[in-house]
Amino acid sequence: MPGCPILTYHSQLLFGNDYADNSHVALAADLEVIAASGRQIIGLRALLAALHGPRDLPLERLVCLTFDDGPDFDWLDLEHPEHGPQPSFATLLRRHAAAHPGPRPVSATSFVLADPAARSRISRATMGGDWMHDHWWREAALSGVLEIDSHGLDHRHPCLCPGDPDWGHFHAVDDDPSCRQQVDAAIALITSLSGQRPRVFAYPYGQASDYLRREYLPRHGPRLGLLGAVSIEPDPFHWDCDPWFVPRYVSQAHWRCPEELARLLREA
Ligand SMILES: [Zn+2]
Repeated sequence: MPGCPILTYHSQLLFGNDYADNSHVALAADLEVIAASGRQIIGLRALLAALHGPRDLPLERLVCLTFDDGPDFDWLDLEHPEHGPQPSFATLLRRHAAAHPGPRPVSATSFVLADPAARSRISRATMGGDWMHDHWWREAALSGVLEIDSHGLDHRHPCLCPGDPDWGHFHAVDDDPSCRQQVDAAIALITSLSGQRPRVFAYPYGQASDYLRREYLPRHGPRLGLLGAVSIEPDPFHWDCDPWFVPRYVSQAHWRCPEELARLLREA
């Protein structure tokens, strides 16, 4: 059964200027692989909306792009202190659209963290600087290039509660109060900051408790405006996939070079 791969990148992966250690170099190379594959890029919201509707998209001719954690490098062309100027993921998408004009607008999803204080602490702890702002969300959401969707409140990041075994993973989000916080409160905050309601949830670490995935989101997701939730299970999207645990492939985990991506796109 042919499917649509959903690919995932992290724009904060910036440890050099090669494919393996710079996600911007990798995305630029991968966009050429996508163009050569004949697959067109489709937005994740459009894909998930079709899952709830007519299911009439040609999945074998499509691919979807998602960016996790929402660092400024998603949207802003920035000078990295060690590795020099980096074109943002949005700039790479615009270049790709100009070089390979097609019938569909080229867009991707940025999954952002809602809580500004948590973002600042996570960014300082993991990126050595304050690089997870929200001042660009509104412009990005209006651009047609990036859709701003939810990665929860604070990623349950271990730097926020050092030594607490309930942090550093997402399995502990398994009761009504914690789900309300990570899903409902995050949606409200992202809506106020981006000007648009998030429509998709990306599980931090790709992890979901049974309660969140099988009870909370199926019951409350539609009321909250959510079309679905994405994991990091490496499979292509099919019409029979669980809308509350949609699979995705992650760059550098599930493919490591353009040739491996070419094979993944061929075999999906
Ligand atoms: Zn994440």
